[in-house]
Order: sequence, then C-alpha cells, then structure tokens
Amino acid sequence: MKQTTNTDLNVRTNAVAEFAVEETGWRFDNSYARLPEPFYVRIAPVPVNAPRLVILNQALAKSLGLNFNILSGEDAAQLFAGNVLPQTAEPIAQAYAGHQFGSFTMLGDGRAILMGEHLTPSGGRLDVQFKGSGQTPFSRRGDGRAALGPMLREYIISEAMHALGIPSTRSLAVVTTGETVLRETPLPGAILTRVAASHIRVGTFEYAARLKDGMYVKTLSDYAIQRHYPELFETTNPYLALLQRVIDQQASLVARWLLVGFIHGVMNTDNMAISGETIDYGPCAFMDEYDPYTVFSSIDYQGRYGYHNQSRAAQWNLARFAETLLPLLDPVQEKALALAEEAVHAFSDIFQQYWLAGMRKKLGLLTEEAEDTELIEALLMCMHKHRADYTNTFRALTAEPLPGDDLFQDSAFAAWHTQWQARLARQSESKTSAYSVMRVHNPAILPRNHRVEAALTAASEHNDYKEMQRLLEVVTDPYADTPEYRKYRTPPSAAERVQQTFCGT
Ligand code: AMP
Ligand code: MG
Repeated sequence: MKQTTNTDLNVRTNAVAEFAVEETGWRFDNSYARLPEPFYVRIAPVPVNAPRLVILNQALAKSLGLNFNILSGEDAAQLFAGNVLPQTAEPIAQAYAGHQFGSFTMLGDGRAILMGEHLTPSGGRLDVQFKGSGQTPFSRRGDGRAALGPMLREYIISEAMHALGIPSTRSLAVVTTGETVLRETPLPGAILTRVAASHIRVGTFEYAARLKDGMYVKTLSDYAIQRHYPELFETTNPYLALLQRVIDQQASLVARWLLVGFIHGVMNTDNMAISGETIDYGPCAFMDEYDPYTVFSSIDYQGRYGYHNQSRAAQWNLARFAETLLPLLDPVQEKALALAEEAVHAFSDIFQQYWLAGMRKKLGLLTEEAEDTELIEALLMCMHKHRADYTNTFRALTAEPLPGDDLFQDSAFAAWHTQWQARLARQSESKTSAYSVMRVHNPAILPRNHRVEAALTAASEHNDYKEMQRLLEVVTDPYADTPEYRKYRTPPSAAERVQQTFCGT
C-alpha cells in the first residue's frame, strides 16, 4: 500500500489496514506507463479530506476478481478516493488532444488519474481510472474535481448501457470527498472509479501526430493494436487494418446508440475510444418522444451532436483519426490518402448495415427484403408525427390488440401495420418467434431522464440513495416487463420532462 502525499492525511491513512488493501485482489501490470514519456505524466491523485463510499458495484468487482468486502467502509472509501493506492499501482495522467465541437485543442486528463491496468481472472486487461481526483498538469483552469451528480449520472448510464449489451466503460465505485466543488453553485465533490478496455482516444492519436515528426504515432498504433486487436499484426497492412477496425467498431457502436434512442451529447474526438466502448458520459440522455432532431446538451447550440447527427459526427471524427495514420498507411502520400479516404467513406454503408440489421430485429424481421428500409422509415415517420415514445412503441408492437395511443389510431399507422403484418407473414418463422426476437431486442426500461434526475437530486441534495439503488436495479434488467417496474417505463408527464442536460464540468 502506498500513501499519497499530504502529511495530515498520512496520519489517518496509517490506520488503513495495509494488509487488507493488498488482499483485495488487484493485479496491476501497467503497460501504458511503459510507453515513452510524452504520453503521460506520473502523478498521484490529490488526497481528499473525508471520503465516504456511497456506491460500490459488487457484481463488477466480483467479475474482476476483486473482493472489497474484506475492507471496512472507511478503508474502502480511502481506496476509492485515491488516498491510498495499492503497491503495484502506477498513477499517471494521460496526455491527449481533441477536436471539441470542431476546434482543435491540447487536452489530457485534467481531472482523472489512471491508477493502473488490472489483469482480470478471465485474462483481460482493464484500465482503472479515478475521475475527479484533483489537478494535473493538464487541468488548464479547471479544479480537477467532479461534482457528485455527474459522477452518479455516469455510473447509472454506463451500467445501463452495459446491461443493454452496448460496449461501454463500467463504473466500479463512487465516493463523496467531503469537499465542496464550485460550479454555478457549491456542490458536493465526488470521485468515480471507472473501468475501461483502455482510455486510448482518437484524441490520443491526434496528440501523438503533433509530437516530434509524428514518430510517436507508430508507437501508439502498435500499442493500440497489441492491446485491442493483436490479430491485425498478421495482416499485410496492420495500420490500415486498425483504421478499418476502428471504423467498423464505431459504426456498430453508434448504430446501437440510435437503436435504443441514446444521445451521447459530446462526441468530440477526445471522447471517442479506439476500443469501441462508449466513453465520457456527460450531458448524455435517452430520448423519450421520438424526434430525430432531439438535442439535450445545454452546450450543443447547433445540434452538432443531436440524435440523428451522431453517425455523421462519428465519421467526421474518424476522418481526424485517419489523418493521424496517413504516414503509416503508405509511403507514397497520394496512396495513403486514397486508402484513408476509401476507409472513412465506407463508414456510411457499414453504419447503415448495422442500423438496418438492428432495426430488423426490433421489428421481428428475420429475413432480408429490399423494401425493409422503407418499411422501417415509414414507421419512424409516423412515430415522429405523433411524438410517440421511442422505447414503448417498439415494445407495444407485440401487443394484441395494440394499446390506445394516438399513434396506433392513425390511419397512416394502420396502413403501415397491415404492411408489416404481411411482411411478417412472408417469412417462414412464426409470428410468435418473430415477437420473441422483438422482446429481447427492444428494451422495456432505460434510465429515463426524469428518473435519473430524481435519483440524483435525492442523492446529491438529501443524501438519500434509495432511489438511485432502485433505479440501478431496474435499468440493469432492461428487458424485464414486470408490473412493479411500471413507474420506470412510464414516460414523463409535462411537468417531469427534462429539456436539457448539463455536462457539469
Ligand atoms: P470532458 O468534457 O469531461 O470530456 O472533459 C474535457 C476536457 O476537460 C478533459 O481534458 C478534462 O480532463 C478537462 N476537464 C473537465 N473538467 C475539468 C475540471 N473540473 N478540472 C480540470 N480539467 C477538467
Ligand atoms: Mg472527455
């Protein structure tokens, strides 16, 4: 066990059961910290005054081979505050850059510290990162801290995404720091412990490309391939293969977001992970009423990252990624450019294929017909016209008779429904099996904004975590359609509707 610097704190942390912290099962092997210096700065979390553990993901801990039950609540709080670190941790702040709403900026972990890479019992290697752990050389004018609300928000949404089968970083724990952070108002401070396949971002490549002669792009590419896609070393052009794979992963990811009505909200290049996981949950949200132009983020004035713009935004980011790889794609500049352009151009079709395959499942279409896209779009148009609830509509389609919603009374919908039923009848599978496919591809429950806000308010303002615990229980079981979950399936009333979400940085 290592203690972080603050002397006052050492007095307190000496009381931590040293043996216990080492016995929780951490197995660190920190490959990123073995990369050359410009990729990170070695720095420990800044200790906090009075950490208190408010939530711990026991199921995730177990799957990682970690047992925190041997720690007292106080010791666990010290650990997840970063006040004490396991001996084998090697804390660093990672350097990166990024295009934020189109403008390039040098960034880096301004309020996060990578504790190390934990080797899991199943042979995985996962980053363990503290978010909200104090200032670093990359903090610019920021305080390096995070408020409780946004950390709990990331916890809920990332765990819901995982339960939906959508690649995502995970949330292991949240502690409150006992300190106040100043945003528009004073707020309780908190630290989230996040677990990720890695934190290599498109922005990490943009950073590397701007270092000495771009020589570090190869270092980073080799590292990323080794870590995420080692089989690509067997291909004739591993760097082109890396570009194509990342494009494929992002196309798949963004298609999955759209299929569940998710809006990330800040798809800057620094928030796009090479691993293909959803990362950096800020003002993200699931839409209730279907409207492709939906934007929740208070800072997204132009709707750049609105619901239906997300595939375009992803492709734009991937073009920035491709640019960083140019020198590695081919020694002849024109050839490199042609390869990059072709790969980035292919994104649209790949995305469309993933989206269509997902939509077919949502509608129980188990075969492929050329007119499927039209059929799907006709339904979406009807849904938009009636501002139908995105989640509940797909779920309701398997009900016979259909519920009494406005949408289902519309003659345009009736015509669509007849077409859809005829389409189902043309496939050899029974309607019963089509409907069962629909029920496992259309979630019944998502973390709806008004429920998330209610849980965060209770936790943040009244120190009451009951609603948060309940919400987590429900959203991590998204296909369950049980009567006691009804409250979580009900769309917000006009008064409950959340119009805007905030990143809270
Ligand atoms: P995010 O919006 O969380 O993706 O953060 C964008 C950039 O701003 C990253 O480089 C963060 O490290 C940095 N940042 C965000 N909030 C803070 C903060 N309170 N203090 C220092 N840096 C921050
Ligand atoms: Mg970020």
